[in-house]
Amino acid sequence: MQMFDCIIVGGGPAGLNAAVVLGRCQRKVLVFDTEQYRNRYTHAMHNYLTRDHIKPAEFILLSQQEIFKYGVELVKKRVVHARKNDEDLFVVKDEEGTIYYSKKLLIATGLADPLPEVEGFQEMYGTSIFHCPYCDAWEVRDKRIGVYAKNKNGFELAIALKGWSNEVAIFTDGVKKFKPGEKEELRANDIDIVTLPIEKVTGTNGMIEKIIFKNSSEYLVDALFFVNGFTQQCNLAETFDCEMSKQGKVLTNQYQQTKTAGLYVAGDADKDMHFVVVAAAEGAKAAVIINKELQKEISKQKMQAAKVVGE
Ligand SMILES: Cc1cc2nc3c(=O)[nH]c(=O)nc-3n(C[C@H](O)[C@H](O)[C@H](O)COP(=O)(O)OP(=O)(O)OC[C@H]3O[C@@H](n4cnc5c(N)ncnc54)[C@H](O)[C@@H]3O)c2cc1C
Repeated sequence: MQMFDCIIVGGGPAGLNAAVVLGRCQRKVLVFDTEQYRNRYTHAMHNYLTRDHIKPAEFILLSQQEIFKYGVELVKKRVVHARKNDEDLFVVKDEEGTIYYSKKLLIATGLADPLPEVEGFQEMYGTSIFHCPYCDAWEVRDKRIGVYAKNKNGFELAIALKGWSNEVAIFTDGVKKFKPGEKEELRANDIDIVTLPIEKVTGTNGMIEKIIFKNSSEYLVDALFFVNGFTQQCNLAETFDCEMSKQGKVLTNQYQQTKTAGLYVAGDADKDMHFVVVAAAEGAKAAVIINKELQKEISKQKMQAAKVVGE
């Protein structure tokens, strides 16, 4: 029987930071990961002190090296199912059907970003097409920035981007929905509103240059930000019936605990902001509480054993 103090599903910043804290607490920890970390498309990662502009793959590799120093195991396989058994243990099944057991389970499986179905988008995603201005707008400051907003309202994103450039335009790809007052505010901020249906986006070496409309007209841009929603990368939290927000994020308490005893969720999958540093911090918080709980349980067992001996 493969038994662990804690199994962590997801080896992104949240899962790996939890792993390093628990490893340093001398806990027996197993991390599962499929290496689909959310920012894998981007050329460089920002907003993490001492690691400015690092490639996400390099950040993950460095983090993995740190967990190995503390004896944490990493299995590069997908977890397909998890449940709790009658002995209050988590039973975790990987994609090959192998079963593992743990006292605690941390879900750190992140989110996925469906891209708009526009020709050329995928090729330039992460190089000149982004969705988070805090992560990527500094690099394109003072350039011609577009906001793609067909399926979601891009009003707030367009206004926010005015902090980085005077030249911002919003593209709704044939949709003409704005809330009352929004068009006026966009215009007051000198943001072009373009509602023409889009044929494709084109550029060179990942750098977007043009938005081409179905009527063959064009608009020149140097970068494009988009809003298109997100989905959970994995439905494990739902199988435990975790409470979800309206946007589809898992609701936890301030220590990343869910309603199910021993089950934690950290990183983008839960309610907080989507940053590597926030995900890592949540992983660390969860790890501290997991470690405390494990120690309490050991102490309780020792008390019970001492009582039996005394009787
Ligand atoms: C294009 C882009 C650029 C970004 N740039 C920045 C930036 O510059 N700075 C910044 O702070 N943030 C940035 N972010 C946000 C950042 O990527 C996330 O906040 C961060 O990755 C969240 O970490 P996480 O550990 O919660 O999830 P993730 O990093 O997504 O990791 C989750 C891991 O879980 C694994 N997984 C999922 N399901 C399973 C399963 N069933 N079994 C096993 N493994 C599983 C996945 O393979 C993945 O490796 C960016 C995001 C995107 C999309």
